[in-house]
Amino acid sequence: MFNTLNQTTYLDDQGHSIEAAKVDFIAPYQYGFDGFYKWQCGSCKFERATRSCGWSIAGQVLECESCHKRNLLVKTNCTEIDECIGMKNRLEVEIAELKHNQDKFQTHLKYAVAQKLAPLSTVIDGLLRDFRESEGKV
Ligand SMILES: [Zn+2]
Repeated sequence: MFNTLNQTTYLDDQGHSIEAAKVDFIAPYQYGFDGFYKWQCGSCKFERATRSCGWSIAGQVLECESCHKRNLLVKTNCTEIDECIGMKNRLEVEIAELKHNQDKFQTHLKYAVAQKLAPLSTVIDGLLRDFRESEGKV
């Protein structure tokens, strides 16, 4: 999903390499207590507390237990991330609406052109018929 992440691969909690393109969501985390970090799945909003055992929580890809989407845990400003993701989602909706309107316009245009050409087609057919008849008489 994310092709603009800084790294091309990340690690999951098992130490497996995960391609950046296979990361589904960015999930900001907060330190809780006793080595536990609170984070929320970007897809289903399932809240979790994960304890990092010998690995860094930052830049870790964790799969949501609930929806199985891959979340990249990041330590940064949550508001800015939310705004960026919100802006991206709004742009995707606007692009889909523009595409829908473009399709509607093209369908309407094809229909309008066909309606305008229909009488011309009748005239041309008549002229061709008259021409063929006149050639037959000669
Ligand atoms: Zn989830």
